[in-house]
Amino acid sequence: MNPRIYFDHSATTPLDPRVLTAMGPFLGGAFGNPSSLHQEGRAARAAIETARAQVASLIGAEPEEIIFTASGTEADNLALIGAVRASGRPGHVVTTSIEHAAILETCLFLAGSGTKITHLPVDADGLVSPQSLLRALQSKVTLVSVMAANNVVGTLQPIEELAHLTKLHGVLFHTDAVQAAGKIPLDVNRLHVDLLSLSAHKLHGPKGIGALYVRKGTRLSPIVFGGGQERGLRSATENVVGIVGFGAGAAIAREELAEEATRLAGFRTFISEELFRLLPDSYLFGHPVHRLPGHLSFGLRGQEREVGKLVAAFDAAGVAVSAGSACSANHSGEPSNVLLAMGCDAERARGLIRLSLGRFNTQQEVDCFLEILPRAVATLSVPRNAVAELKVPSSTLAAGALA
Ligand code: PLP
Repeated sequence: MNPRIYFDHSATTPLDPRVLTAMGPFLGGAFGNPSSLHQEGRAARAAIETARAQVASLIGAEPEEIIFTASGTEADNLALIGAVRASGRPGHVVTTSIEHAAILETCLFLAGSGTKITHLPVDADGLVSPQSLLRALQSKVTLVSVMAANNVVGTLQPIEELAHLTKLHGVLFHTDAVQAAGKIPLDVNRLHVDLLSLSAHKLHGPKGIGALYVRKGTRLSPIVFGGGQERGLRSATENVVGIVGFGAGAAIAREELAEEATRLAGFRTFISEELFRLLPDSYLFGHPVHRLPGHLSFGLRGQEREVGKLVAAFDAAGVAVSAGSACSANHSGEPSNVLLAMGCDAERARGLIRLSLGRFNTQQEVDCFLEILPRAVATLSVPRNAVAELKVPSSTLAAGALA
């Protein structure tokens, strides 16, 4: 089989083998229920508490401020619904127009029960302005929720400034840091956030496990009811193996973050320079500086309606990239709500190709991608069977390059 090049880490990341090793015992002999008082139960409890400390350490939190959930989506739901319910009123949530569906759909749900929702606009780079937040804070607000890093264009928001302004008004601040965690430094105290969502599978951990950071003293109601696990905020027998994997993933990400960020930003700069050289009709999306290190979104002038074909051509050639976000894949061909909010016309808003690089990508893969790129674009005007010519040559990529 030809080696594949995986450039879609914003959708999900491959499990780090070190994470898999840490999880191993909890898929086998270490099966105890962490609520049991016997030795098996105590071993599971100890593993969870180690992982809680590891996840807390990634974001500068105290271990008891971490609530494990089943996903980043559930963490977002708990933050928004939990804060509104705890306020005892329908309340008012201020968010942005470029959030992930986990926030936008939760806001729609809350609106159905009378919660007022304000969507802050963003500029052409995808940035929220502190002035627009200040205007929204003139009325009574229950919670402000602004994502730390956007999943489609990679723009980083000025969370520290936005959260600071929000706190000055005595309002709770939540950030969806699912895309940012493990890629840029995050410290909940420096950022002044009260609630922060995380997901393990975006940082080389397993799928189906997330967490919500809940600052000590923050009033939050549960959205799942039962045996009272996770300080009563998330009932259910804990996903021990997932939590252990999350902890290991967080510890590795913390350890390697600075070096990885520099390495991935280097790849990104190189790819964007080559992109303009090889395809002068290309253009980039997102903020040029305030952005995720390994994330690059681009479009091709005049070829915006062909992105589906282009992604398929890359796939056939052995390269996994995406058009927009994985979560919007069911709506491919439709303009991206994020790009429309950034002021792109409907044509451009259809034409985004996202490359998101991660831990196991190499310079050799980047070079190989750049070799395939112009040929993949050329297939847009030729019959589909010509795409077979594009296959990643086995000789170009040593087996095992994907580690
Ligand atoms: N928030 C953002 C910004 C995301 O990119 C994603 C996943 O793509 C989520 C939330 C949802 O996380 P999960 O897949 O763990 O439910």
